[in-house]
Amino acid sequence: MSNFDYKIATEDKDKLFMSLSKEFDLYGPIREVRAGRYCDTDAIMYRKLKNLDDIEYKEKSTYSPKEMLTPFTETLFYFTEDSYTETSERYKKPVLVFVRACDINAIKYLDDMYLKNGNAEDVFYKRRKKMVHYALMECPNSLDQHCFCVSTNSNKTDDFTLAVRFNDDNSLNLKLNDESLQGLFDGFTNEDFDLKFPEENDFTVEFPEIKDNHEANLIANDSMWDEYQARCIGCGSCTTSCSTCTCFTTRDIVYSQNTNVGERRRTNASCMTKDFDLVAGGGKFRTTIKDRYRYKILHKIYAHNSRFGDGAMCVGCGRCSSHCPQLISYPETINKVSKVLNTIRENKEN
Ligand code: SF4
Ligand code: SF4
Repeated sequence: MSNFDYKIATEDKDKLFMSLSKEFDLYGPIREVRAGRYCDTDAIMYRKLKNLDDIEYKEKSTYSPKEMLTPFTETLFYFTEDSYTETSERYKKPVLVFVRACDINAIKYLDDMYLKNGNAEDVFYKRRKKMVHYALMECPNSLDQHCFCVSTNSNKTDDFTLAVRFNDDNSLNLKLNDESLQGLFDGFTNEDFDLKFPEENDFTVEFPEIKDNHEANLIANDSMWDEYQARCIGCGSCTTSCSTCTCFTTRDIVYSQNTNVGERRRTNASCMTKDFDLVAGGGKFRTTIKDRYRYKILHKIYAHNSRFGDGAMCVGCGRCSSHCPQLISYPETINKVSKVLNTIRENKEN
């Protein structure tokens, strides 16, 4: 019997919550009734938990938990005409957040952009990351028809502080991965827990192995992108909901009472929206919607890996497809790119 596996009876869940709360503030996906995009639909959002029963574990969260590390908007510092003051860390206590394996696997792509991209680490991201710990929510099967985590090898992880199974009778099974926290579980019953991960999804994606810029350019110039000019509306929902997208913009907010004083904010942005690529002087690099969509796709499946060498920037969570109001499927697009690449190579041989 493992000393790190526990069975938490329904009536002991509040006791567990109190025990974990000694060490952490607890966050997880909770259902916000009628807060969804469409009439009478709910949203499942990451929020501070008041008890473990609030966790929505049967459905995928609407947005990814990346907002725990990179909030939709945050103030970085306050300035006057001759000085500035950095904001303090928003988490005053370590945080334990309930997440899926795919979303844990997404963190390495956030690290790439915030810690390994250029000569300087992002201090705001780095200090927050130290505060955030993960409670893996077991999902032994695909959560919905959009999941393709197996195709991206993001279906499994052992990078968690604890893992939890939500049982139908409202009890929990729990696996602790951090010996130093064992004291929090004094008085709970040990029971072996064989953590399961999804082994297959309804949908399989074949990621193309694009060899070099020449092949990437041939794909970029293929007519396959034309259909997206008509279909995509450039709303940015796919990227905002994505576990791995990291684009942001910064804004200086100047206070009306004294225009020499203000704050700099960092806010999520999207490569899919109009004017994302607008530069000083009015220049633009991607003037059409199909250019922007093609850029997004090739960045995820080629450019990111060329720079960081850790594979396609995607964990197969499927949020991009489930969020698209135009029913554009990112994984179907990837499969199309694979077919185009095969044709390019066949034509080269003939
Ligand atoms: S591209 Fe789509 S499937 Fe991949 S991580 Fe982003 S939202 Fe999830
Ligand atoms: S969610 Fe769909 S319509 Fe909106 S930008 Fe993404 S692909 Fe285009």
